[in-house]
Amino acid sequence: MTVEKTLLEIKKDLAEKKISSLEATEATLAQIEAKADLGSYVTVCADEARAAAKEADARIAAGEDLPLLGVPVAVKDNICTEGVRTTCASRFLENYVPPYDAFVVKKLKAAGAVIVGKTNMDEFAMGSASEFSAFGPVKNAVDPSRVPGGSSGGSAAAVASFQAYAALGSDTGGSIRQPASFNGVVGLKPTYSAVSRFGLVAFASSLDQIGPLARTVDDCKYVYDVIKGHDPMDSTSAPGDIDRGEKFDSLKGRRIGVAKEFFPSSLDSGIKAALDKAIKFYEKNGAEIVETSIKSFDMALACYYILSSAEASSNLSRYDGIKYGRRAAGCKSLQDIYYKSRTEFFGPEVKRRIMLGNFVLSSGYYDAFYLRASKARTLIKNDFEAALSGCDALICPTAPTTAYERGKQADPSDAYLGDVFTVPVNIAGLPGLSLRCGADADGLPIGMQLIGKAYCEETLFSLARIFEREAAV
Ligand code: GLN
Repeated sequence: MTVEKTLLEIKKDLAEKKISSLEATEATLAQIEAKADLGSYVTVCADEARAAAKEADARIAAGEDLPLLGVPVAVKDNICTEGVRTTCASRFLENYVPPYDAFVVKKLKAAGAVIVGKTNMDEFAMGSASEFSAFGPVKNAVDPSRVPGGSSGGSAAAVASFQAYAALGSDTGGSIRQPASFNGVVGLKPTYSAVSRFGLVAFASSLDQIGPLARTVDDCKYVYDVIKGHDPMDSTSAPGDIDRGEKFDSLKGRRIGVAKEFFPSSLDSGIKAALDKAIKFYEKNGAEIVETSIKSFDMALACYYILSSAEASSNLSRYDGIKYGRRAAGCKSLQDIYYKSRTEFFGPEVKRRIMLGNFVLSSGYYDAFYLRASKARTLIKNDFEAALSGCDALICPTAPTTAYERGKQADPSDAYLGDVFTVPVNIAGLPGLSLRCGADADGLPIGMQLIGKAYCEETLFSLARIFEREAAV
């Protein structure tokens, strides 16, 4: 079936004129309709997509060749798209139509991609189950009674259920990798600064990165190559060479690190077994497995929730009902506008983060929380650098569980605990890739995470590609 092809397959078919972009786009739009119950999209841009597909077909007919010419893809709804509303799954931005494209959207368009829609997510990317969306929850593509993970749950579910050939997500503490893991697809959180954040609605600016989700490693790499690169509009965007990884087909001479902190004795036995198998695969095929340690690992989760909430409270202060975001009805004073709009239009998780952030930044507590977390951040970074100096990548589970049942998230701290293996990577600013490495007793995908040195995405793709091709999981 057309929609089940990989991105590289459909790209080839398009270039060889075996299928037109309009046909591929119609097939994708029909699949989006058939899978509407999963709630993967906030907005489907059918008209814009058809127009872009027709243009792509004309360009293909004229002999043009671009990396994504005519390929239907999706974009997370916290990434600005000119003329197409960008809601962040929040009532606050329900009617926000950006007057400009994010850098990555410009890149997609310049590569000829057809954007079919904006994917559903946790409000402002805060959450791990895509249940905190003002537009209703997203369902897991493998088992709709389960959560798809979050916050890029819509992107992951859309890709897994053939509603797009690839999608963009954002990852502040695991939001690409964990949903990729829960839906059995591939997701990359690039090195901090490798992909421009211009046009990404900010959650925690020092941690946020945009990255691709796709069904194969090569598809994921292909989209990454399109969206990466320097952007003068993002002051944190890395100038110069950001490709320091290696492309290889053999594991001989490769070293893969196993940090014991990522394998606690409490680790789920099914997940541990799948990871053990993956580690054995690498060893059997010629890689050396090295034991290593991230001593500061235990600090990472607390450190993340302090830093990310602090940044979130500051970033979200702009939603005042005047300059940013819609305004509540019946306001009589300035105070009233702020109070009523923020009360009415922010959801519960966002409010929790704002309160947490304001608390850790408040005078008297700043030194005890924010300052200490900043210092812990340096320790975590240093520990990763030391561990990675002796190997090509670290391997570990992406998440401590597989996709859990929907509607069961009673205590927010349970969700926070689920981020334990992903947040250290954002704190260290390193690239992390999640890839399916097996299934649990219920048939739900298990994800493994490969963590690399800064700007060594290519090394992660090489390691993941060999596993995907030869491990048969
Ligand atoms: N689950 C994490 C959180 O809620 C990560 C979110 C993200 O990466 N955007 O903060």
